[in-house]
Amino acid sequence: MSKSKGLTFKGGIHPSKDGKALSSSAAIQDAPLLKEYQLIIQQNIGAPPKLLVAKGDEVKKGQLIAEAGGFVSVPLHSPTSGKISKIDSIPGPMGIPVQAVVIAADGEDQWGELMESMDWKAAEPQAIKDRVRDAGVVGMGGAAFPTHVKLSPPPGKEIDCLILNGAECEPYLTADHRLMMEYPEKVLEGAAILGKALGVTDVYIGVEVNKMDAIDTLLAKADDYGVKIVGLQVKYPQGAEKHLISAITKREVPTGGLPMDVGCVVQNVGSAAAVADAVVEGKPLIDRITTVTGEPVKNPSNWRLKLGTPVIEAIKFAGGVVCEPGKVILGGPMMGFAQKSLLVTVTKNTSGILLMKKDEITQYQSVACIRCGRCVDACPMNLQPGSLSAAIESEKFDLAAKNNIMDCVECGSCAYVCPSNRPLVQHFRRAKAEIRKITKK
Ligand code: SF4
Ligand code: SF4
Repeated sequence: MSKSKGLTFKGGIHPSKDGKALSSSAAIQDAPLLKEYQLIIQQNIGAPPKLLVAKGDEVKKGQLIAEAGGFVSVPLHSPTSGKISKIDSIPGPMGIPVQAVVIAADGEDQWGELMESMDWKAAEPQAIKDRVRDAGVVGMGGAAFPTHVKLSPPPGKEIDCLILNGAECEPYLTADHRLMMEYPEKVLEGAAILGKALGVTDVYIGVEVNKMDAIDTLLAKADDYGVKIVGLQVKYPQGAEKHLISAITKREVPTGGLPMDVGCVVQNVGSAAAVADAVVEGKPLIDRITTVTGEPVKNPSNWRLKLGTPVIEAIKFAGGVVCEPGKVILGGPMMGFAQKSLLVTVTKNTSGILLMKKDEITQYQSVACIRCGRCVDACPMNLQPGSLSAAIESEKFDLAAKNNIMDCVECGSCAYVCPSNRPLVQHFRRAKAEIRKITKK
């Protein structure tokens, strides 16, 4: 393993408060069974799954509820046994209503028929990819991109390296940390299975060196699975795909390019564990580890939550609140999304539920750019955030595109250091959406 300060990339920031101590020593707990789950139908990037059930249908735990709607899509499975009480519109994590299957749990939590356990060492790579798709596995670090698609590079793209992201560089989140500590063999076996599916032998797990206990736990078994453990510097956004690749392999993904352009595939450690569950145990993805944390939470902790669990119930599992929160975020404070409703439910990419106190939330007044250049130093993608923001404010989306706005990973490092409190990420998200609309025409 690479020791000392760990490997890293150019740019990035060190957030002043990392908040991880609140929950990093809290062992993963299985959430109590609820009476109802509201399963958002589209939980993946790409085509929405096609619903296979209707109101009144009985379902078992793990039963197929919706099939993949195309190649870039995944199926969806029931998180428990019970009856479909309705298909309804509920608050979505992005602030707009979404369709959900509402399941009245029967309290039995009884599995339906599982898929057969695979002898993955003897299996064909395509059989593993099919199983990963059938189990509904997506990027669980936040992206929710179908995992089987990343395992299927187009002809001509040679992959020789798989990297698992165990950096968990977002402040406050500790779900991946606990997963690596408590289920190291599942993560390692998932890594080896993914390596077999890709036909690569260079398999790495990158972990920030603020999680030395997880590094040591993985190292104790890593050789058994042919996986290398790499210590990474504690810096945000160390877990972004291109920065993991840069830190571990010294390869630079070109502007507008993808990891596969430099022979790499990156997956999250949570997705690797889900792959091991799917391949070894035949279980589809129906729950995930989520950190419920922040100073207003009575007992910040890590939970195995079934998909479809309302956020308000997850907060109750963690003991409720000790003061009124000023903000509730799904994900971490840097890249997560503030929520308008606590009735929004857990999906495959809900890595954290973060509550912030009212006095931690500052309403900033944005003022003019003073051209200090701090955003340029912080940007890990070598962009010029201040100039890009000015172009976008003038609706010059073509200029923003020419200056590589599509490379922005929306990490928020520029906004974090900006003394003028410019709403940089909001500008970049808007510009990227506008450019996508134009290029799709
Ligand atoms: S411009 Fe994009 S990639 Fe660069 S620091 Fe800002 S949000 Fe991150
Ligand atoms: S950090 Fe803010 S004020 Fe400084 S150059 Fe960038 S956008 Fe302008």
